[in-house]
Amino acid sequence: MSLLEVEDLTVTYGTDDGRVHAVNGVSFAIEEGINYGLAGESGSGKSTAAEAVLGLLPGNGRIDAGSVRFKGEDLLEMSADERQDVLWEEIAYIPQSAMDALDPSMSCGAQIRQAISKHRNVSTANARDRVRELFEMVGLDPDRADDYPHEFSGGMRQRVTIAMALALEPDLIVADEPTTGLDVIVQDKIVDTILDIQERIDSSLLLITHEIGVIAETCEELSLLYGGKVMEQGSVDNVLLNPTNPYTMGLKNSFPEVDDLGDDPVAIPGSPPDLGQPPEGCAFVDRCPFATEECERTHPPLVDLPNRNHRSACHHVDEAAQMRNAAGDPET
Ligand code: ATP
Ligand code: MG
Repeated sequence: MSLLEVEDLTVTYGTDDGRVHAVNGVSFAIEEGINYGLAGESGSGKSTAAEAVLGLLPGNGRIDAGSVRFKGEDLLEMSADERQDVLWEEIAYIPQSAMDALDPSMSCGAQIRQAISKHRNVSTANARDRVRELFEMVGLDPDRADDYPHEFSGGMRQRVTIAMALALEPDLIVADEPTTGLDVIVQDKIVDTILDIQERIDSSLLLITHEIGVIAETCEELSLLYGGKVMEQGSVDNVLLNPTNPYTMGLKNSFPEVDDLGDDPVAIPGSPPDLGQPPEGCAFVDRCPFATEECERTHPPLVDLPNRNHRSACHHVDEAAQMRNAAGDPET
């Protein structure tokens, strides 16, 4: 049994201009002890997928289909209260821009203590000790636990949100863009902190980021989303070092440090599809060098490739792989 199993997840948002098809039939599974990456360009549906999994979609969001099982139990079938318990006790969520969402009127320590006291029957003194311990764990000075959010830098605030998420020692940490907006050196330190703590408390990780370099450094498996669909999925070695999907190849060119090719980053030309009017064919068709009439007509299914733990949704998997080889990718 997987720790988290998401199947055929489909999410739309209601807007004045009609429904936005943000997540379209996404399936993935996270095994215990695995660090799993969810990547893709801005607007590809990463946060929507996470919020749907955690039952935290905004009011205009709706799950139209799919199931989400955590340790075998369907989170979507649970009452809001039951799900809330699982969320606090077993899954920790660090939302996108969490560090900017700390309550400015409360000290950081008080916010963490509040989170602990809500779910554990602990004395004030014990909660204080626990906050000091957590501060130390995430590399913050415990003597600063009573400082207010504005007294900390962005990187330090992000550490506070990590401390808060870890307070109850979850089995799964879901972190949405935990390094975005921080400078590169701080980013590396935050990633190291998450990995270090995660090893100590023995949890799994769902890391959401548009930076595939961060995923290459931290995760064993990933799914790459585009237009709310999984385009390529599997082990990091297969997907990022030997991609078969033109979208993955394009993303790799945007983040050449992924396999130390050392080239200048080249963004994928064009822009993502309008999810208010999702294309009938492949979501990537307008930006793909391999696109044919077939790609205009039908979205390719996600199919298993011959190597283990590798799936790709592309009508032209073979040609794309040939192009990659011809380009002299050192990993092939
Ligand atoms: P980013 O990297 O920018 O965080 P993302 O991959 O997390 O992007 P989402 O935020 O999940 O993407 O958005 C997926 C799609 O859903 C986008 O087209 C976005 O505009 C749309 N969307 C997100 N939230 C809402 C909302 N509350 N109402 C309507 N549309 C929304
Ligand atoms: Mg997001």
